Amino acid sequence: MFKQVKLNYDFSALEPYIDTLTMKTHCEKHHATYTKNFNEAVEKSGLLGKSVEEILSSLSSVSDESLRDTLRNNGGGYYNHNLYFSIMSPKNKTKPSSALMEAIEREFGSLTNLIETLEKMAISQFGSGWAFLSADRDGRLYVTKSSNQNNPLMEEGRHTPILGIDVWEHAYYLQYKNLRGDYVKNFFEVLDWEKVSENYENSYKTK
Ligand code: MN
Repeated sequence: MFKQVKLNYDFSALEPYIDTLTMKTHCEKHHATYTKNFNEAVEKSGLLGKSVEEILSSLSSVSDESLRDTLRNNGGGYYNHNLYFSIMSPKNKTKPSSALMEAIEREFGSLTNLIETLEKMAISQFGSGWAFLSADRDGRLYVTKSSNQNNPLMEEGRHTPILGIDVWEHAYYLQYKNLRGDYVKNFFEVLDWEKVSENYENSYKTK
């Protein structure tokens, strides 16, 4: 059975950047529902025992269209939120590891440029969705956006997401109303680059 990632901080710990009610609702209602629906769909589809990464990267093998959509939406929701909640923290001023920094400078010139690219991607996603930083098997980095709960594991090439910014209104509307840009800028105040670096190193070491 798939479980929601355990937060190693309190719902109030990301104030003032992300408020307590948003965090509590997001975790206990939204993420909890994706997780419950995903577990039910996994059982129904006979995929018990597979990892979430395996399921999301082979959705085309599920022949029942409605079950496939349920797995895509709720499996994506389950996975993306585990990523999102685990890369935020109240720790101050974390930095990318030397391996990640090297890749960032090689491909984006600087950390500032990467952050600007991610912000633009998150702000320009029309409607509900995500912006991702992901890595391929050779450690190359990609910035992409996607609708709904889709993510780079489901796409051709299957890059592993190492950082995800939730731009569904439920992620910011209670606090920021229509100001998605302010939320996205403030997200970087609570982003834990140490955790993103760990994700980066795992994404290609394990392949
Ligand atoms: Mn969300």
